[in-house]
Amino acid sequence: MRHPDRFDCTTPQHRFGAGTYWAITTVADRRSTFLTPLVLRFASLWQGRSTVYFLYADGAVRRWESDARGLAPLIQLGAVAQLPVPVRDPALVRILLHVEDAANLRGVMLGVRLATLAEGDAANLVLAALYAFFAGVAFALIVYNFALWCAMRHRFQLHYCMLLTALLGYTVSSSGALAWAAPILANNDRIRFNYLFVGLAGGAAALFTRSFFEEKALPRWLDRASQIVAMAVPLSALAVVVLGAADLRYADLLYTLAFGGLIAIIVPTLWSAWRLGSRFLWLFAIAWSAPILLACVRVLAAMHLLPWNFWIDNSTILSIGTEALVSSLAVAYRIKFLRDERDAALTREMLARELADIDPLTGLLNRRAFLQRAIGRTAPQQLLLIDIDHFKRVNETLGHDGGDDVLRLFARALRTAAPDPVLVARMGGEEFALLTPADAHIEAEALLAMLRKIRMPFDLTITASIGTCTGSLATEIDWKALYRCADSALFDAKAAGRDRVRASLLGTA
Ligand code: GH3
Ligand code: MG
Ligand code: MG
Repeated sequence: MRHPDRFDCTTPQHRFGAGTYWAITTVADRRSTFLTPLVLRFASLWQGRSTVYFLYADGAVRRWESDARGLAPLIQLGAVAQLPVPVRDPALVRILLHVEDAANLRGVMLGVRLATLAEGDAANLVLAALYAFFAGVAFALIVYNFALWCAMRHRFQLHYCMLLTALLGYTVSSSGALAWAAPILANNDRIRFNYLFVGLAGGAAALFTRSFFEEKALPRWLDRASQIVAMAVPLSALAVVVLGAADLRYADLLYTLAFGGLIAIIVPTLWSAWRLGSRFLWLFAIAWSAPILLACVRVLAAMHLLPWNFWIDNSTILSIGTEALVSSLAVAYRIKFLRDERDAALTREMLARELADIDPLTGLLNRRAFLQRAIGRTAPQQLLLIDIDHFKRVNETLGHDGGDDVLRLFARALRTAAPDPVLVARMGGEEFALLTPADAHIEAEALLAMLRKIRMPFDLTITASIGTCTGSLATEIDWKALYRCADSALFDAKAAGRDRVRASLLGTA
């Protein structure tokens, strides 16, 4: 303490490597009183025992000492350690710190500052809001996306849940809440959990990135690279957890490299998605721009190309919180496309089914669709079978195409004369059928008169014969009986000279 000039204040701390260090603050000259007690705040880093010496204006020294476990009860939100400065009358002059077995990845002592207890509380409050915001968003999105996954089984939804769950874990460990929940845990072990959760989140992010885009949007090699990164990132985090105590520096380097790999696959993924015209690219890019940028910044900081900063260290939560929100829009957007695809498929299916029901020449129901709609009616039904007279001659006179025109005109006239709910069908060739409830029966003579008036090509006169019968249509057997009855009436009409109506009674056919 007598020779503060012997401390090196210019070389970046991390250059000294791992080891045991002394650190000293600048002159403070502040009083810690009962009314406004002071606290010493510093970032909690990977270290062993530590001792803090408070030097007062009267020359007295107060000491605080702890092993690696002793830091845990001091942890505040934001994983900042907060040590009360003993209250004394003389002003606090300086603080000397002794840190044993510091991993010194980013520094031995970072973010050291004297604050009042009230300032410490205020910082806790701001960070509590931040972490609570993120934890709430993450929790809601996990429930929501898991429910979506249960309903729709799209893999990206599950990967998104994995990502959020890992980040929720990271929120608990990195905020320091874990130190509150489990005070028995040494601070270094809490830091191990940080690595583990971010590693798992990185792996899930690699999977999510892969599965978010359309199946064909990515080349094979990128698929494989994504899988490798998805494994490598959590494994490197596991290496930190297991080997951290032996040599945190190498384990951390491995971890930083694995994260570099994650950033490295995101760029070609975006590029491929852009080249193949993925519809989800821009939303993905917006959602992930903040976390990707931040991951770059953190990798740069880990490589000491950027100085340590509390907000860089803690901004993961904020940027991922934003990402999670925008990503939920992206998921909704993707689901909108799924809905559009489903609607298009339904429309196609409906069209196909309608086409299958319709006779292509006349646009009337075909025989199959007619039967489908007719059989099952329990109330008495009137069936009319209508057959054009001497249609062979029509074909001979007008040709087959002309005959088709006649069939079309005839069908349109039938439809006009017998609007919905009368069933009108082309049973085949030049034979048509009408079905209507008996209590709304059709006057066959009037219909025939109307059909005679149809204007045909070359003013051809077309006549038809009608056979009609009334009965129930509950079953297929009923249908056969009713059809036979109407058909025999039609035969009678033809036999009697055509261009007329004949009715028959069920049971007489
Ligand atoms: P009838 O008065 O006894 O009913 O005599 P018809 O000539 O109308 O009856 P027939 O059943 O002997 O002949 C029906 C003709 O209808 C035979 C066939 O070539 C013709 N035909 C069947 N389907 C079509 C079609 O889709 N288009 C055209 N142009 N002709 C068809
Ligand atoms: Mg005919
Ligand atoms: Mg016929």
